[in-house]
Amino acid sequence: VSEAIRVLDVLRRLDRLAPPDLAESWDRVGLQVGRPDQAVARVIVALEVTDDVLAELGVQQDTLLVTHHPLLFRPLDAVRTDRPEGRQVAAVLAAGAALVACHTNWDKAPGGTDDALAEALGIIAPRPLEGASRPAFGVWTMVPEDDLDTVREAMAEAGAGASARYRRASFSVGGESTFEALAGAQPAHGAVGAFTLRHERRLEMVVDGERLAGVLRALLAAHPYEEPAYGVVALHGGWPFGGLGRVGDWPADEPVAAAAERVREALGAQAVRVVGDARRTVRRAASVGGSGRSLLARAAAAGADLVVTADIGHHDARLAEALGLAVVDAGHRETEAPGVHALAGRLRAALKDADVPVPVDQLAVASPFAFAAARPSQGR
Ligand SMILES: [Zn+2]
Repeated sequence: VSEAIRVLDVLRRLDRLAPPDLAESWDRVGLQVGRPDQAVARVIVALEVTDDVLAELGVQQDTLLVTHHPLLFRPLDAVRTDRPEGRQVAAVLAAGAALVACHTNWDKAPGGTDDALAEALGIIAPRPLEGASRPAFGVWTMVPEDDLDTVREAMAEAGAGASARYRRASFSVGGESTFEALAGAQPAHGAVGAFTLRHERRLEMVVDGERLAGVLRALLAAHPYEEPAYGVVALHGGWPFGGLGRVGDWPADEPVAAAAERVREALGAQAVRVVGDARRTVRRAASVGGSGRSLLARAAAAGADLVVTADIGHHDARLAEALGLAVVDAGHRETEAPGVHALAGRLRAALKDADVPVPVDQLAVASPFAFAAARPSQGR
């Protein structure tokens, strides 16, 4: 009998896609409403909790709602259902649903919000504006020559020596090992009480922090020795893993005005706001999903002519001017929609091998903004 998928099972898969330790320190990510052991019959992915999204929760039992923006951001001092947050939390509970937030950890993750936005805009060879990293370790062990392949394969199978583009990466070097087995020991080689010298290999592999425990288990299980020698060293600075914002070459050398129209078209925005000289040529551009104001200086330093982002205020616009940057503010929802779409797609793929099929639906959230007919600025 196949077990139903639980919230915890989905969380585990989500954590692979968007490791929680990538989230900013001020952020709130993970399970926000519900229980880890709750059954999940359907997953809904949406930008945020709105009343339209909540209405969809009651349609099917055991729904897990995954939103980009956390519903609970500031600590609640009361769950009062006459106030918006309390009412929305109560609505999730009343629908028997659970809620998970996947926010700045998804912004930074490879394939996340900022990669999805850069891809939607056609930015060429995008690199993180502000790189992120994850804990990584070097694992070494001494292995008899004949067992090297077995141990290396077992560790690789558990995820050692793997990155986004490589797997089974390892290094080994030969040397001499010694030991003396004491009474009660059952050495794979050599006799109890004898000083034994053997030719062995020192095998080294790099391991993602998340997979370290599994790799060590695999090493110990595959190693022929009763008490294998092994060690773990932390990699200083960790392993590069996505980051905030992206910067790369703009798909065509074109004036800011044409680039703005390209952005509007690519993101399906009703209108965009533009800061800077409309005739200036854009060759290199940065993009940041959602509010990218904190990365303006970094974008300028990275040689960007243009920043595509959202939530640009008056003073941010003045700062951009002073930095010699053009900015296209395409809207918060618009710049994050590609990332929400990508999250639904990744989650769908990650849940494919689940014992019980779990449909993943994406709910479009309408922009809170509408545009009244614009007319040329009077300069007043
Ligand atoms: Zn956002």
